[in-house]
Amino acid sequence: MTRSDSPLPISVDHLVIGAGFAGLGTAIKLAESGEDDFLVIEKDGGIGGTWRANTYPGAACDVPSQLYSFSFAPNPGWSMSFSPQPEIEAYLRDVAETSGTLDRFAFETELTEARWEEADRRWHVTTNRGEIVAKTLISGSGGLSVPKMPDIDGIETFQGEVFHSARWNHDVDLTGKRVAIIGTGASSIQIVPSIQPDVEHLDVYQRTAPYVLARNDRRYTGVEKLLFKHLPGLQKAYRTAIYWARELYVPGFVWNPKLAAPARRMALANIAKGIPDPGLRARVTPDFQIGCKRILMSNTYYPALAADNVDLVTDSIVKVTGDAIVTAGGVERPIDVLIVATGFQTTEQPIAEHIHGRDGHSLSDVWAEHGMASYKGTTTRGFPNLFQIVGANTGLGHSSMVLMIESQLAYITDALRTMRTQDVATIEPHRSAQEDWNDDIQRRMRRTVWSTGGCSSWYLDAHGKNTTLWPRTTFTFRRLLARFDAENYDLEPADA
Ligand code: NAP
Repeated sequence: MTRSDSPLPISVDHLVIGAGFAGLGTAIKLAESGEDDFLVIEKDGGIGGTWRANTYPGAACDVPSQLYSFSFAPNPGWSMSFSPQPEIEAYLRDVAETSGTLDRFAFETELTEARWEEADRRWHVTTNRGEIVAKTLISGSGGLSVPKMPDIDGIETFQGEVFHSARWNHDVDLTGKRVAIIGTGASSIQIVPSIQPDVEHLDVYQRTAPYVLARNDRRYTGVEKLLFKHLPGLQKAYRTAIYWARELYVPGFVWNPKLAAPARRMALANIAKGIPDPGLRARVTPDFQIGCKRILMSNTYYPALAADNVDLVTDSIVKVTGDAIVTAGGVERPIDVLIVATGFQTTEQPIAEHIHGRDGHSLSDVWAEHGMASYKGTTTRGFPNLFQIVGANTGLGHSSMVLMIESQLAYITDALRTMRTQDVATIEPHRSAQEDWNDDIQRRMRRTVWSTGGCSSWYLDAHGKNTTLWPRTTFTFRRLLARFDAENYDLEPADA
């Protein structure tokens, strides 16, 4: 029983936003730590977050399944070494059901505004279904949730079907159609090989060639699944081995990009294996350092590009007409369906404009001048009792975001424990602590491949500043967030 159709409570101790990995993990950890008075609101109709929203053909995780699950809820039943989207969504649903927290979720409930009121030292939250007052606001609203549509002249005049990869229109049958896909990022390289066999013709519009490594996905055998089920220690050891293999990417990203040379060789070998034509090989070969943009994983993307019914278009798009895309030089390519796989809003978190802090300014206002910045990617000066999961500089280019989310959950639950045991009404990071944290991150950013690798990417904001990625190892992040450091916060006692 969920609370989607029952009235919302007037007030709760903790209001959690989002029912993806972050929101669900929060619910489980709050319940475990005895913080029982909480509600999770989710704008969508169920558990899953991005893994419910992204249902495009071929959607799968490019992080190994073993790492893409909560450490406290291993899944011995993954069918593949890289899980398909429906399995991840089902996993999250199962974890939610088993955890006994589902009755604390209100679906189809969207936050429209949250304001901190000094008078009662509470968050006053407006949703489409009513108002809720909360002592703390914990946002798990996701870094990749709002699709970014390209600003292309005439796109609104296109008469055929047009949709974003994250809002796939399953009513449109692509069989025998002339289709165009704009973008060659993580979503596109999964879509292209999935739809290529069915469509009459596919134009793939590439602005920047990405690095694509072989994914080498494989099905787990029945014996492996049995062993994982009955010997959880074995599955844990397997997960640990994958964890350390992934962590080995970090030196090449953040210390010396030359260390990533073997990965570049593997990427070039993947091109050579998948594409026989030297001309096409040259056009898909990236001209920046590997790691500067997210490294993609696929065995099937290049063979699909090389298929007879696919054209890679690298001329820039000038406009879209009622039935075609026109590129530089006036070449017009007629299409029936246009798929837009152009990514998400990342450097301005969409929720930021709705959250107003102590002086009435929104997070967006505060971040407008210098970009996103928080303390430990979690708390923000001027926004008491606000916790953001997957906040500023917590993203990863090499491993599972679930690791980062769990580190943040440990920090948040320890903060709440401190508040309860010391009878604290509000916590807010010291300005100096927040500045030092961000100065250190930006100093470390300077020599990373994301700054020096010769590409532009969604990791960088309008100022060219990397406010999205974590420039250190995941175990360092976990260590730095293992304990709530009250000494770096203003704590207001409840009786003040
Ligand atoms: P993305 O990686 O940001 O790729 C967007 C693509 O669209 C890029 O090729 C970009 O070109 C192109 N593009 C953007 N605007 C354009 C324009 N106006 N004209 C022409 N091309 C344009 O987006 P995504 O593929 O949706 O993936 C976003 C993120 O989601 C990923 O980086 C990843 O973190 C996550 N994701 C993860 C998985 C997974 O398996 N775990 C799967 C899918 C997505 P430029 O490169 O030139 O900017």
